[in-house]
Amino acid sequence: MISFCPGPSRVYAEIPRYLQDACSEGIMSIGHRSDAFMRLMEEAQLLVRQRLAVPDDYSVYFLSSATECWEIIAQSLVTHGSLHVYNGAFGKKWFYNTQKITNTARSHSFDRETLVSPGGLSPHQHELVCITQNETSNGTQVSGEILAQIRAQYEDHIIAIDATSSMAGIHLNFRHGDVWFASVQKCFGLPAGLAVMISSPKARAAFMQKGEQQHYNSLLTVDAMMQKNQTTHTPNVLDIYLLMRSLRDRQPIRDAEPKLKQRYEGWIEVLRRTRLHHLVENEAARSHTIIAVKDEPVGIARIKAGAQKAGFGLGEGYGELKSTTFRIANFPAITDSEIEALVQFFLGLQR
Ligand SMILES: *Cc1c(COP(=O)(O)O)cnc(C)c1O
Repeated sequence: MISFCPGPSRVYAEIPRYLQDACSEGIMSIGHRSDAFMRLMEEAQLLVRQRLAVPDDYSVYFLSSATECWEIIAQSLVTHGSLHVYNGAFGKKWFYNTQKITNTARSHSFDRETLVSPGGLSPHQHELVCITQNETSNGTQVSGEILAQIRAQYEDHIIAIDATSSMAGIHLNFRHGDVWFASVQKCFGLPAGLAVMISSPKARAAFMQKGEQQHYNSLLTVDAMMQKNQTTHTPNVLDIYLLMRSLRDRQPIRDAEPKLKQRYEGWIEVLRRTRLHHLVENEAARSHTIIAVKDEPVGIARIKAGAQKAGFGLGEGYGELKSTTFRIANFPAITDSEIEALVQFFLGLQR
């Protein structure tokens, strides 16, 4: 089965080799206070910085999942409420999760065919602005240009950005936000159980000032441990190792991004030739890493069943879009020949 699911997604082809090395190097049994672990953390962190172009004054943390990042942000960074900007299921879930914890969350939802209008956000003073950069459920994204405008317009606000299904795929300008996060089972092409969080000095100052340390994963504690290349708890050492190994073998995301965009254009051309439709008509709103395809429920059911028989795992439609869409992940770990095979399957569809 070749997986085109948006997460957990196809992992890098080199993973079996890295795992073998992890076994022979004894990685699975090293203590999380050992020198070996601290060296691993240091290199993993350094590689995240280099490959993803993280500014030097930003911090990098390793956590467990994007959902955990939502919770940590609510606990450690919200002081005067949060404004959640979203157009789909993941952004909405972030809003609900935060509301449960803080009771001061507000939502600014927008249509998936329209672009976020920075002027229309009007966050309250000191409100945390929460943006889902790549909405995995419907194949849309908030572009770098719009994030730059939001940053410029709300200079004093702290901006948190969920980039779970785009980080390590598209180049992100981290200066346009303060807290960025992603779990690794999407664009990073790794097994689930690890998340990367990137924080600006401004966000760091804010959680320092708030001083919240009631949780094992309070940012204050996470940050203090990270200074020593350690974690607050026994982390997913194996996944940190796999992250380090896979980033070692990869080029900077900035250099890899054009190929990903080219593949995205290729998929749009295939949809055109097969008379399939992207869920999102507005090209400027479309994600480059998740392609959502819409059709009548019978058509979707037929394509999904056919794909499965042919050995392709397509992503189910998400939530209310379950019966009318399927999703194709455009993640870097998928190989050219796998894409070519799925393209041939689509071109062979009788429509
Ligand atoms: C997958 C996903 C999440 C949840 O990730 P977990 O690792 O399961 O917590 C959150 N946000 C977005 C945008 C996602 O795609």
